[in-house]
Amino acid sequence: MNVVLLGPPGSGKGTQAQYIVDEFGIPQISTGDMLRSAVAAGTELGLAAKKVMDAGDLVSDDIILGLVNERLRLPDCTQGALFDGFPRTLPQAEGMVAIGVTLDAVVELLVPDDVVVERISGRRVHQESGRVYHLTFNPPKVADRDDETGEQLIQRPDDTEDTVRERLAVYYEQTAPLIDHYQQSSSEYFKTDGTVSVDEISVSIRSFLRTFSS
Ligand code: AMP
Repeated sequence: MNVVLLGPPGSGKGTQAQYIVDEFGIPQISTGDMLRSAVAAGTELGLAAKKVMDAGDLVSDDIILGLVNERLRLPDCTQGALFDGFPRTLPQAEGMVAIGVTLDAVVELLVPDDVVVERISGRRVHQESGRVYHLTFNPPKVADRDDETGEQLIQRPDDTEDTVRERLAVYYEQTAPLIDHYQQSSSEYFKTDGTVSVDEISVSIRSFLRTFSS
């Protein structure tokens, strides 16, 4: 089963991916996570990607397709995969087909821009552990400090309000055309409101995926 999760940054794709992975046993392929690992490891690819990511722009299609192609060769992908944050452009969608992925379903999370900006710009992280907080929805016990270590929390460079607005502009320009593309293709297409509770969203997505995965 190959599934794509589509939606703007901050629409909850990563959160929902966890539930889908748990139930259907397919691995999550998040190109954003793969790029962040490369940045943290200080690889050549990571250094090149960091500038682009910090500005809220997209990493080149060639680099992304190379990463995904390599990832799909690992044995855990034999039963399919859940793509989170990929494809993000029409050439990536075409490249995905060219490397042999047959898509079964596309799930789109609908979240208005103002909600995205509030969710992402309020996010704070503890860099070392990756623990994530939110100024309003999940504040740390002591302002700006990690609950476990007491260390300073940071805002990811691509989470500032200006960069989030840039990421949204990039989404509408380069990624949103995939909505029409996939609605006209033969894969199953499911849209769901991404502003209700995490549990409600998860239940609706998983029941949709069950109807055709069985
Ligand atoms: P994400 O965590 O999915 O929002 O990704 C964070 C950043 O990584 C994006 O703003 C892009 O700069 C880059 N990125 C992630 N996935 C892709 C992709 N499929 N194509 C191009 N750039 C990507």
